[in-house]
Amino acid sequence: MQKNLTSWGLTGQKSTDVRLIKWRTDKLPEIKDGRSLLPYGNGRSYGDSCLNKDGVSLDTRSLNHLISFDPKTHILRSEPGVLLADLLKNFVHKGWFLPVTPGTKYITVGGAIANDVHGKNHHRRGSFGNHVIRLALLRSNGKTVICSRTQHSDLFFATIGGLGLTGLIVWADIMLMPIDAPCLNVETMKFETLDDFFELSKQSEWEYEYTVAWLDCASKDLSGRGIFMRANHCTRLQDSNNDQISKSKKLPFNLPSFIVNNFTSKIFNAVYYNAHPPGVLEQTLCYEKFFYPLDKLKNWNRLYGKKGLFQYQCVVPVEQGKKTIETLLEEVLKSGFASPLAVLKVFGEIKSKGLMSFPRHGVTLAMDFPNSGTALLRLFDRLDSIVANAGGAVYPAKDARMSAEHFREFFPQVDKFKHYVDPAFSSTFWQRVMG
Ligand SMILES: Cc1cc2nc3c(=O)[nH]c(=O)nc-3n(C[C@H](O)[C@H](O)[C@H](O)COP(=O)(O)OP(=O)(O)OC[C@H]3O[C@@H](n4cnc5c(N)ncnc54)[C@H](O)[C@@H]3O)c2cc1C
Repeated sequence: MQKNLTSWGLTGQKSTDVRLIKWRTDKLPEIKDGRSLLPYGNGRSYGDSCLNKDGVSLDTRSLNHLISFDPKTHILRSEPGVLLADLLKNFVHKGWFLPVTPGTKYITVGGAIANDVHGKNHHRRGSFGNHVIRLALLRSNGKTVICSRTQHSDLFFATIGGLGLTGLIVWADIMLMPIDAPCLNVETMKFETLDDFFELSKQSEWEYEYTVAWLDCASKDLSGRGIFMRANHCTRLQDSNNDQISKSKKLPFNLPSFIVNNFTSKIFNAVYYNAHPPGVLEQTLCYEKFFYPLDKLKNWNRLYGKKGLFQYQCVVPVEQGKKTIETLLEEVLKSGFASPLAVLKVFGEIKSKGLMSFPRHGVTLAMDFPNSGTALLRLFDRLDSIVANAGGAVYPAKDARMSAEHFREFFPQVDKFKHYVDPAFSSTFWQRVMG
């Protein structure tokens, strides 16, 4: 089937040869001309890790059934194309929640496993893969391998964070988390410096399930100011606030590229920071508002116009955290580019299970930029060198441009991982970083 599958950044790359996987029992298509296969979830990766421009994409969105749930063990068996949005719709009001969720609910279970996604509670629960109990992987030799921490464990750990390269996940067992209520008690406060951010993170890590900060990385004085949020799920008694879930809206077309630029980004950052009242703002928010504010405008990526956007997300070890974040922000400021949206979070010490997982103990910084061509890509290369020197890594799920050299520095375990890559599978990202 000819179709245009894109990734979230909309920076031009597409997959066009698409095969629909309708049933768990489907066989992988036989591709006689040697082209490769790659599963496609919901295209919420920003760059090219979900694309296979010279090969065939396996569209998994029809594998969207919840198979079984055992409230005694908390284990849900799900098909991989189930959107987190649908999973939550079914479970939240019965008192269950995802143990880890990223900043959008429009991703699939398969995509969550293949990128071992993280959320605002990394310091408490690690990444998504820490809650995957078992999965069934269809390999190109026609065999389905059931893997877990004790069964075919090497393949299990390679598949978590394995970028869709080890085979097609056809179902997975995930352990859900019980909650009392679908709302959260949220505290929001301004901070003036990076030191304050680290202090707030430290103070909050034991008492709060969720912590995250928005960073004003467009301010001229580079103070490291921002807004810190921390939250816990409400207990049933507190859940009196009838904060309704609102429907998301859609942009009917791409806005002109000049709408989000360095100038408007700086203004947005200053206004957002200054609009926040002093002191601690306490609110009770429904989970949708707290976790997924961006999902309100379903295709907000089109705000960036036809050229699309890049997100740069890195993690650096805690010991060098403050110094490295300062150096990265200085480099961005020197370049003249401004990010309209930057997020900062401390990842905790819980080790990711995946061989290639991105999350690790450290500080993670994510910055969005409108696609402004070569000069921006050169800035990213310089940022990569700073991150590599600090012993950190850049997140493949957000990447569309890192060099093969930097990839090896960020993921030296790639030589071990290569042995688990299915010989029939590849991606645009993989071809770029492996040469
Ligand atoms: C607004 C927004 C906020 C985000 N916030 C976060 C965040 O807070 N934390 C975070 O970690 N990420 C975040 N992301 C990134 C996103 O969570 C990941 O890129 C996620 O993997 C996308 O999942 P998807 O279902 O769209 O899969 P795709 O992007 O289509 O694919 C992702 C990977 O999964 C593989 N895959 C998909 N299905 C299968 C399968 N059945 N078997 C094997 N492999 C499969 C693909 O081959 C690909 O390698 C965010 C993205 C957006 C757009």
